[in-house]
Amino acid sequence: MRLKVLLILTLIIGIILILIHSSCSSTQSNVKLGPDFKFSDKQIITTYVVPSGNIEKDETYIRVLHLDFQARGYKVIDANEILKINFEKITATNHRQIADSLQSKNYLPSSDIYIIVSAVWDSAFVLTFYSEDRYVYWKKYQFAGMNVPTLNSRVSIYDRSMRDPIKSYTASDTTYLLSENDNSDWYYREYPWMVIAKQLTRELEDIPICSIVDNKKATNQYKVSFLVDKSYREAFPDTWMKRLQLRTLYANDILRSQLDIELSQLEFVEWNSNFDRDLKNSLEKLYQSTTSNPGSLQIGITLDHELKRNWTDKSKLGIAYLLSTDAAITAQPSFPSIGQYWNPIEESITLVHEIAHILGAIHVPDNNSIMYPNAGTLSYEFDEVNKKIIGATKKNFLKQSTKERLIPYSEELLKVKDYPSDNSNPIIQATSSVIQLIDQRSKIIYDNPDKTFSNMFRLIPDSALVFAVVGYLEFKDNNNKSAINSFIRSIEINPDFAEAHYYLSLVFRKDGNDEQADLYKNLAKPYSKLWIIDRY
Ligand SMILES: [Zn+2]
Repeated sequence: MRLKVLLILTLIIGIILILIHSSCSSTQSNVKLGPDFKFSDKQIITTYVVPSGNIEKDETYIRVLHLDFQARGYKVIDANEILKINFEKITATNHRQIADSLQSKNYLPSSDIYIIVSAVWDSAFVLTFYSEDRYVYWKKYQFAGMNVPTLNSRVSIYDRSMRDPIKSYTASDTTYLLSENDNSDWYYREYPWMVIAKQLTRELEDIPICSIVDNKKATNQYKVSFLVDKSYREAFPDTWMKRLQLRTLYANDILRSQLDIELSQLEFVEWNSNFDRDLKNSLEKLYQSTTSNPGSLQIGITLDHELKRNWTDKSKLGIAYLLSTDAAITAQPSFPSIGQYWNPIEESITLVHEIAHILGAIHVPDNNSIMYPNAGTLSYEFDEVNKKIIGATKKNFLKQSTKERLIPYSEELLKVKDYPSDNSNPIIQATSSVIQLIDQRSKIIYDNPDKTFSNMFRLIPDSALVFAVVGYLEFKDNNNKSAINSFIRSIEINPDFAEAHYYLSLVFRKDGNDEQADLYKNLAKPYSKLWIIDRY
């Protein structure tokens, strides 16, 4: 009797194992990495990017790789990082020699897979600008770019147990970029590292997501509904849902490891918003077409075809209001290589950036932070200020009303004054939301009972900021004369307050005084390196 039960149990476990195995091997059938190579057995993958002179960009490139691998559940060791810590350098350019050298120095002792990547720098890295006229769909455009039309990179993937690479390939991509006809400014350059990252991640599409190392659940689970606009569904008719699932996979990778947050119970709703290139309008339409659901986040997804041709690092790619539950984002263009590809990593990063705003995160001038306001840096790490802010708001976030969210937020936000480089943090708007929070969906204004001057000084121990916050609230109330006075008083106290200059310029503009508006706009400009002034 017992034996029979045991037999049946073994049989059931066997069937379950077969099921697990077959679900994995069905993904594996896509693998093109040589005969019988089981990528899913491999746990530790080391990436090594042959360094170029452009360290900063290479670092970003490594991040892209990390992100990709982490999202797939592989453990990654970055050989460059280890070398840097030990003040070591590899001078060889031959991939096998690099792998041997790293192994002999014991830097790859437990890695199962080594990936060595190098760009064919000598051709593509001659950064000579040139331009030419070309016709795209019968319309004349001026293209600007490097003097070589393609970037080639060499990739070798080694298994530790094999002498020869399991896969070697050279990938080519365009490095062209596009400039608007009527605009003499050069538009964004397609950075070589970006091209390589694109090439490599495209190949990695074939690697199955089987060996999940970090599969523990995050403590804070946020339900998400995606409202997927017709514009997005029509662009990717067969794949839109899978695309968004993959974006969420990347996004969760960022959110789980840094904030202990995970997006769950995804719901995809077909949406027809008559997308009109204005994400603010999209968000308004989202409010109109859905009822408030405080128990989940609602993200509208659109696709702005114009971005393919007119992308700049200041393009509007996403929008969300502080402490709300809703956001709208567009599919993210790849860097303007004639816009053939939509960029999966940028899309995931924008998704996380907007969710962070919902949780109260503010823009920071540090372009290593995911809360840097401009696109194109591919940073996916949170800065310390925003980590602390979100740390205070994330618990019970979706169980609270907008007003209740304000309490932990205001306590944490006001500590921002203690963090370095506060003058350049755009905190006027965020601090104003503590004094007067507007629920954008219901248009209800929650006034903080402490909205009197004396209480605000107690709340915000920085008089320049208090005057600026008052000025901002007056500006929003169309009380321009008072707003001007408040900002001038703020600047008198702190002449280096870049954001106050910026808002003062906006008030003058609204008041019809262009001369003063230009003056303060110019005064704010020198600070734009510290703090990127939106659309200036
Ligand atoms: Zn933002």
